[in-house]
Amino acid sequence: MGIEFSRQFALRYVGAGARASATVAAHGIRATIADRLRKNRWLSPQARRATTEKIDQTDLKIGYPDEWPDVATFTLTESFLANVVAARGAQRKKSGEQMRAPRRRSSWEMVVSPNGAAGPAAARLMIPGGYPDAFSNSIIITAAYLFPPLFDASAPPEVHYGAFGSVFGHELVHVLEQHEFDRTGQPGELWTAADITKRDELVGVSWAKPMLRASTARRRSTRTLLISAALNCLRGDGRQLGSRVDERGSDGITAAQRFFYSYAHGWCGKQLPDAERDTIEHDGHAPRRFRVNGPLANSPEFAAAFRCAPTAKMVRPAAERCSLW
Ligand SMILES: [Zn+2]
Repeated sequence: MGIEFSRQFALRYVGAGARASATVAAHGIRATIADRLRKNRWLSPQARRATTEKIDQTDLKIGYPDEWPDVATFTLTESFLANVVAARGAQRKKSGEQMRAPRRRSSWEMVVSPNGAAGPAAARLMIPGGYPDAFSNSIIITAAYLFPPLFDASAPPEVHYGAFGSVFGHELVHVLEQHEFDRTGQPGELWTAADITKRDELVGVSWAKPMLRASTARRRSTRTLLISAALNCLRGDGRQLGSRVDERGSDGITAAQRFFYSYAHGWCGKQLPDAERDTIEHDGHAPRRFRVNGPLANSPEFAAAFRCAPTAKMVRPAAERCSLW
């Protein structure tokens, strides 16, 4: 039933327009990140080549599939219990068949558990989310993610690059950091021991020892790349906005500024200190305010967009800036 529910939601409420504009943004960001990787200076040549190849071949599954997974055939009756038993039996049979079949990289059926209820991703497209999948070298962005207020295809491009673009870039960085899997999702180390040491050195703090405050902010802010990659997709020759990115609109705000507002808005929220500590210790992601203030203070593009003085609180001195990808 989940797959059918996903299909009705995705086709009726999200539609091809939102999917198409998110797909354009996703491909643009992937190309920019691959380009950065090609120019990376600290990875060994073999790691650089293998990781770039992997990113070039990451399967981008945006919104909903072209070909919907098979829904099992079973008869629905007026008995809720009988329906549950029939649905579970059909699912069990399907899982058994999948176990014996070769893995398909294009499948949307990896098991995910948004909000606690585990099931195939294709049956969870009405819940907003993004999932990187190491075993198939792919990323799924669910249909519900492409739905207002998270995504609005009719908003100016800087708004959806700031929010959707940076989330998509984040998922892509998960894929490139999963160096234990190759471009088809098979286990295979792409990095040398020296690459791994170098990465840890650059991050400047061990993942095994999460510490509150400064170290955490620094550790988590290494994902600055996605922001500047997303912004790069907008500016520059032949890009979506070119030099117009710095022009002021009638509201007195430049497109570059609107991009950063949109990024920060995506993380808007309030967390109590206990919840922040819990996020640091168990989540693997930074608490909300660090996800905004950390990377943006590392970003020269942010300082330029708002003409921050070098001494401003949101400008980290160049020597302390963290930039990994
Ligand atoms: Zn993540």
